[in-house]
Amino acid sequence: MQYCMVVMTWQRVSMEKLIKKLRADYPDLVFKPGLACCWSPEYGEILYENSGKAHSIEGLLHELGHARLEHKGYVSDLELLQKEVDAWEEAKRLANMYDVPFSEDHMQDCLDTYRDWIYKRSTCPQCLSTGIQKDEHHYHCLNCSHIWGVTASRFRRPYRRSKNKGLIRPLF
Ligand SMILES: [Zn+2]
Ligand SMILES: [Zn+2]
Repeated sequence: MQYCMVVMTWQRVSMEKLIKKLRADYPDLVFKPGLACCWSPEYGEILYENSGKAHSIEGLLHELGHARLEHKGYVSDLELLQKEVDAWEEAKRLANMYDVPFSEDHMQDCLDTYRDWIYKRSTCPQCLSTGIQKDEHHYHCLNCSHIWGVTASRFRRPYRRSKNKGLIRPLF
């Protein structure tokens, strides 16, 4: 057997063991295998990847972190980032508690994705100063007074439910 196959199988087995424990410890939450991991406050569901992909355990614990912290939504980009940081801190604690591997590098990579995204949105297109967010769709530059629009956050809704198949698809 190839090494990567061994790793994938091992990961799948440890994922299954963890899911069993989590189901017992969190009877109010629904844990479902899916294509991507996410947390739905609306349905009390956590989707997890069980394809044996790297960091799927971290991903699962991160979503459980959102659930435990009762994250439901957010208004500003910075609030989103703060919730991401908090959910990752919670994931780290949970990994320790359940004695499963946790990659700090993966956590930082994920947070960097959010930081880069916010940096791009908050940079004034006229003078390149960092603006402040006025509302969900607008930033304001304190340096040159320019106001610019930003699209609805691609992280805004973790997922939506497909009406036909009951499948859950990530939005991004
Ligand atoms: Zn998250
Ligand atoms: Zn400006």
